[in-house]
Parts: sequence; structure tokens; C-alpha cells
Amino acid sequence: MSDYDFEDYGLATVAVRGGQVRTNEQEQSEPIFATSSFTFNSAAEAAARFAGEEEGNIYSRFTNPTVRVFEQRLAALEGGESCVATSSGMAAILSTFLGLLRSGEHIVASSGVFGATVSLCSNILPRYNIQTSFVPLTDYDAWEAAIRPETRILYLETPSNPLTEIADVARIAELAHAHGCLLVVDNCFCSPALQRPLALGADLVVHSATKYLDGQGRCIGGAVVGDKERVGKEIFGFLRTAGPSMSPFNAWVFVKGLETLSLRMKAHCAGAQTIAQWLVEQPQVGKVYYPGLASHPQHELAGRQQTGYGGIVSFEVVGGREQAWQVIDNLRLISITANLGDAKSTITHPATTTHGRISAEQRAAGGIKDNLIRLSIGLEDAADLQADLAAGLAAISGTR
Ligand SMILES: *Cc1c(COP(=O)(O)O)cnc(C)c1O
Repeated sequence: MSDYDFEDYGLATVAVRGGQVRTNEQEQSEPIFATSSFTFNSAAEAAARFAGEEEGNIYSRFTNPTVRVFEQRLAALEGGESCVATSSGMAAILSTFLGLLRSGEHIVASSGVFGATVSLCSNILPRYNIQTSFVPLTDYDAWEAAIRPETRILYLETPSNPLTEIADVARIAELAHAHGCLLVVDNCFCSPALQRPLALGADLVVHSATKYLDGQGRCIGGAVVGDKERVGKEIFGFLRTAGPSMSPFNAWVFVKGLETLSLRMKAHCAGAQTIAQWLVEQPQVGKVYYPGLASHPQHELAGRQQTGYGGIVSFEVVGGREQAWQVIDNLRLISITANLGDAKSTITHPATTTHGRISAEQRAAGGIKDNLIRLSIGLEDAADLQADLAAGLAAISGTR
């Protein structure tokens, strides 16, 4: 791992320096290697590289120095041996499944995972005879009951979206291993600055780098982190051939993003805590979902498993869809967009956007009510966000 042994350094140091290998130009910051291929000194060298007998760059679909800095830095942050960067978070999830699974094998996943992940598991993978069973995130008996002889992967997101439920990663990892399965955790909501699933017993971590790793809402990307065999060989082998690769420019943006990850996550957490506590006090607000509130059912587990409670706050307004939309439509600062993990705060109405394509019964079973609103708290002054939300809440009919 380049010139440093990163096990000896703290997270903030690794986030700034991890994976950097300076060229002969002695550049201080990481360059963008905008080249599709690399040259060899001889035909024999080319042959040795292609045969895998000699390490080195070949072609940017699977070897690019800028992408490698991002991969090594994220691997060090997550405490994994190996990382493969991908063109999107969904490409990371797809590469994990197709890199590791064979026809006839089975996945158990938590029911609240990212919408496109549900769609991948429900609509695309079955075409290749890979089936998925969905279970409630925190129902440990249901996890165990869903495991079949052909199950190979348990898959979850914690905190969940949008209700911020927390799963006990160590407990589900133990269950996975007892049944010869792998545990894959989508660590998008926490990032390695707040949670390191591999240290809790998970086997693989997947990321949408689009969210907090970038942190400024600019690029689409993803990554898988884990051991050398599964990530470095099997998933890398899939990516090398199938090609859902990260571009060097995007890798450079994510490398820049990682440098400020710790600082940003602290600020997102502080802002979210302030807003969550304030929302609890508002007469137009019903339930508030935030792991940093003592009233959150897994507040204590979140405190043990994470080093911060995250930047996502969801809440129910008094009323239904109409009232939720009134709040959203009367904001001036917070952006109406389904993205999250941005420096700019965002707001979304899950029932009609991110969770709009599932049936009303499925939404009800998942606790996604029509009066639910999800906030991703950015890096603005909390007082300004509070004033914006106060104006939105005041617009609810009859309370102005
Ligand atoms: C956004 C997101 C994804 C998908 O990532 P893309 O970069 O949009 O492909 C996966 N998981 C979670 C939790 C996400 O929020």
C-alpha cells in the first residue's frame, strides 16, 4: 500500500494521504491520469503484464493510477485488503453479485434497501436464476429462517433508508458465517468515517461514492471493499471483463472528497442532531426518526456500532401527503431532490419518489407513510435550515 503502512495512522490521516504514489514529477497532489492505455518497454514486458506475471498498468478499464489511489485510500479507510472502484454504486452491487454468485444461488436482503437494489434483486437477477428473499432489517429470526442451503450472501444497509433503523452488524455477520454465507454491507449512509462494517465482522462493503464520499453531489461512482480473494480476484475479474469501471476524472473527484470526509461527516452529524432535536419540539411534527435521539429504538446500538449518528433525519408531519407536500413546497433553501450526502441539504417525499413504485401495501409494511419526509442535512448553518423548515411547517393549512 504505497509508501506508508496505514494501520499505524488515524482515519483522518489515511483520508488525506492513503494510496498516494508520487510520480517522478514529484507532484504534491494526485494527478489525473487521462489515458486509456499504457505502453510497455518491450513485447516481453507486455506479455508478462497480460499474463499477470508482472504488476503494472495495462488499460484503464481495469488499471489506472488515479483510480488506484481512490481504491487504496478507501480500502485503508474501511480496513479492507482490496478495493475495486466502479462506475456507480449500482455497478458495485451488480459486480459483487455477478462476481461472486452462480446460477441457482440465493441472497437474503433487508427489505428496506435502496430502490434500485430491490429492483436488481427482484427483476434482473432472477433472469440469471439468482433469487432474493427480503426480511425486515432488525428481525434476526427472520434472517435465519430465510437462509436456504443455496444462500451465499446476506445483504443489508444500516442505517436504513428512510427510517434510520439500525441493524446489529456483528450479530448478522455471526449468523452469516454460521451458515457458510458472506455478509455484504452497503455503507453508504455512514461512510467509513462513522462505521467500519469489516471490523464488525462483515465480509464485504459496497459504496455509492456518489453520496458522502464525493460529498458535493458531483459525480456518480461506487466501490467494493473486502479481501484479496473475493474482491481482488473474483469481483475484479468480473469488472476487468464486463467493464463497469470508474473514470480517472471521477476517481480524482472522489480522492478529493475523501480528504475532507471525516470533517464533513462530523458537521453532517452535528447539523442533523440539532435539526432532529428541534423537529421533535414542533407542533406540526409527529414522529422523528434519527439514531441520535434517545427515543430512537436502537439509539444505544448506534452509539456502540457507529462513531456518529449520521446526516439523515426523517420525520412525519401532522396530516398526510398534502401536508407533507405543503412543507416541501414552502422551502426556499433546502433542495427538493432525492440525492443525499451532499453539502447542500436535500428533502424528499419517499412515498411519491424513492418508494413511489412499490405498492401501497408494501409501503405500509415498510412504515413509509404518506406524511413522511426525509432530510439529508448538508453543511449549511443549522440555524438557516431550521428557519427554512419553520417556514415550511408554518405553511401547513391552518397552522400559519
Ligand atoms: C445511491 C445509493 C445506491 C446506488 O448508488 P448509485 O451511485 O446511484 O448507483 C446504493 N445504495 C444506497 C444506500 C444509495 O443511497
